[in-house]
Amino acid sequence: MLAPARVAGAEFSPRAATVTLADGRTLSAPLVVGAEGRGSAVREAAGIGTLGWDYAQVGVVATVRMSRPHGGVAHEYFLPEGPFAILPLTGDRASLVWTESRKRAEALKSARPEVFHAHLQRRFGDHLGEAVVEGQVFTYPLSLQLAERLTGHRVALLGDAAHGVHPIAGQGLNLGLKGAAALAEVIVEASRLGEDFGSEAVLERYAAWRRFDTVSLSAGMDAFVRLFSNDNPAVRLARGAGMAVVNRIGPARRFFMHQAGGAVGDLPKLLRGERL
Ligand SMILES: Cc1cc2nc3c(=O)[nH]c(=O)nc-3n(C[C@H](O)[C@H](O)[C@H](O)COP(=O)(O)OP(=O)(O)OC[C@H]3O[C@@H](n4cnc5c(N)ncnc54)[C@H](O)[C@@H]3O)c2cc1C
Repeated sequence: MLAPARVAGAEFSPRAATVTLADGRTLSAPLVVGAEGRGSAVREAAGIGTLGWDYAQVGVVATVRMSRPHGGVAHEYFLPEGPFAILPLTGDRASLVWTESRKRAEALKSARPEVFHAHLQRRFGDHLGEAVVEGQVFTYPLSLQLAERLTGHRVALLGDAAHGVHPIAGQGLNLGLKGAAALAEVIVEASRLGEDFGSEAVLERYAAWRRFDTVSLSAGMDAFVRLFSNDNPAVRLARGAGMAVVNRIGPARRFFMHQAGGAVGDLPKLLRGERL
């Protein structure tokens, strides 16, 4: 492990990949995994483009201390501007993911603490008591960003470098963990068989395993954003009726909770708690 270090570029030749760090050092390996988030330098160096679109929404993220215990329960309100999520942290603290239009998010970020607090409390509701912001407020522009390919010659993409989705259902990290576990399994199995694990033939097994799940989940999240960040009365009515039905039917509710937990589909061994 080299840390801190910053990847400045990468080159891919038939026998090895070479990574150049910002301090000028170079490293060589049979495979480079680009896992540096949405702005992946490795993805760019590999010439892998991205597809997607901007949601014209910004995620305002802050930590709040609450005057009442949250009891480990997460809340998400679907407001016309986008979802407002209260995610429990240790103690009586919670992480807020507050989606707003770009203009309003910028205004919120630069608002005086008392103005921010007034807006926050209005959305927060009374049942969780008073919420006081702790630390800095961050903003993240929200978009869908999918890499055109998950692999290339001596390169594999992982996590947000491969797929950046809207946080509406908190699936970004799950998707990244599934990818990491699948790639680890493919590499270990190939090594055991004496294969070159940086070759396209081996990496294609990882891509084939993860492609469908990645694209279908991204499309699902995109549909969720359109359904829930919407103030059309007909859509609102259908949405409310659908939510009420799911809430009343135990198996349906458990199905959606299980889906949201991410432990579905063809799970790699590491996510099933098994050794590689
Ligand atoms: C507002 C918001 C709320 C979210 N809420 C949830 C949620 O509730 N649940 C959930 O599952 N997901 C959520 N997500 C998504 C989740 O944060 C991401 O999917 C996850 O962080 C992706 O992990 P990653 O390691 O692929 O990328 P990142 O978390 O982006 O990490 C990339 C790392 O690479 C480093 N790096 C970047 N460039 C270089 C370079 N050139 N050289 C070396 N290092 C570099 C960065 O410093 C960083 O440490 C949310 C996202 C947002 C924006």
